[in-house]
Amino acid sequence: MSGGNTHPRPAVNDDTAFFWEGIAAGELRIQRCADCGVLRHPPSPGCAACGSLAWNHAVAGGRGAVFSYAIVRHPLSPPFTEPYAVVVVELDEGVRFVSRLIDAELERIEIGMTVELELVAVDDTLTLPLFRPARA
Ligand SMILES: [Zn+2]
Repeated sequence: MSGGNTHPRPAVNDDTAFFWEGIAAGELRIQRCADCGVLRHPPSPGCAACGSLAWNHAVAGGRGAVFSYAIVRHPLSPPFTEPYAVVVVELDEGVRFVSRLIDAELERIEIGMTVELELVAVDDTLTLPLFRPARA
């Protein structure tokens, strides 16, 4: 993934800035309702459980399990040059998170396999929260 800043950029807004600031700080931040404590992801203005607009965040441990996945083989667009796995990870904290699974043999990916977070600098200004098969 070299060749300059060609990787797609995340959309950062008032609801998601805390998340990307967390990634820059080495943390996987998950939005948490300040009133009832329910975690939610992706970030949104209000709590689906109690309706509160007040929120803070928790820092996730970075481990979870593959809830679902898809292998993208075609069409590939730059900077992706080889098939890759898009995964829905259910974090140990209970929220689901869409990411990419790296360093995995695509044919051996399974629902339920344990994965862990890896913050990957894809270029000089973008670090992404990706997942890899968990080490023992
Ligand atoms: Zn709530």
